[in-house]
Amino acid sequence: MAIPPAAATFAQLLRDEGVTVVEVGDWETRNRNHKGPWGPVHGVMIHHTVTRGDTTAQTDASVALCRDGHSALPGPLCHGVIDKQGVVHLVGYGRTNHAGMGDDDVEQAVINETALPVDDEANTDGNRSFYGFECINWGDGEDPWPPAQLLAIERVSAAICRHHGWGVRSVIGHLEWQPGKVDPRGFSMQTMRGRVGARLDGNQEDDMPTPEEYAKAVWDYKLDSPTAAPGTDPKRTAGTFLRYGDAKYATTTAQIGALQGAVAALTTAVGSAGSITAEQVQAAAEAGANAALDRLGDALTEGN
Ligand SMILES: [Zn+2]
Repeated sequence: MAIPPAAATFAQLLRDEGVTVVEVGDWETRNRNHKGPWGPVHGVMIHHTVTRGDTTAQTDASVALCRDGHSALPGPLCHGVIDKQGVVHLVGYGRTNHAGMGDDDVEQAVINETALPVDDEANTDGNRSFYGFECINWGDGEDPWPPAQLLAIERVSAAICRHHGWGVRSVIGHLEWQPGKVDPRGFSMQTMRGRVGARLDGNQEDDMPTPEEYAKAVWDYKLDSPTAAPGTDPKRTAGTFLRYGDAKYATTTAQIGALQGAVAALTTAVGSAGSITAEQVQAAAEAGANAALDRLGDALTEGN
């Protein structure tokens, strides 16, 4: 017996799973409860809208349709509309017109979390017992399912399963519920259940650090000072070390270049004066340069 949470709790548990939620109008009290029961709930059902969502206007129209319904089927037509950016628009809460009549054997499998049988009967009210999400897609198998949209489906499903303590077999597609339905079309519910399961197990890839986050972690890594007690210099990160070293290297390189130029000029001047040979000056200059390079090597090794 799973009792649906309060509307505000429902919105929050989606947000807690990382979902971007838009609360549309009076969604919290918009439902079909006057037409039949809502709850106990047994699962989450995924649909496609058979509408386009490539522009803001198309997305808005799809959300409005799911909220208001149409002449043959009054709204709300689901609880949340998942657009192509992965934003979840909440349009209703309670009993909504999304699941219709489906197979009691499927309902029993969802309750027991056993393998789904083929849905070959339409003898059971699904609007009572399933949360419903309409995903904006034309439903022709060609209209793309952007990664953000699939991630949102994974997240809302996991959020609800987590709240009720359900496993992934509580997440089904409309096509697995009612004979003749094909939605959602364009991805496999089996694959989606795998993703939801991985998320519930805490292995979801999208929460892994990105390369940029790894790089920032390295950049911010705290280094101990060679001259002060460990952990006493809060500004001494790998990033500041690298920035300092980079600036120091550029300065040193420029200084060596200038020095080489000065030595060359000196060599020419002294050589042409005739008191000592140019070769003697050259040898002295090379010894000086080698000593300078040794000091540079020591400075870079010390690392400052
Ligand atoms: Zn459907």
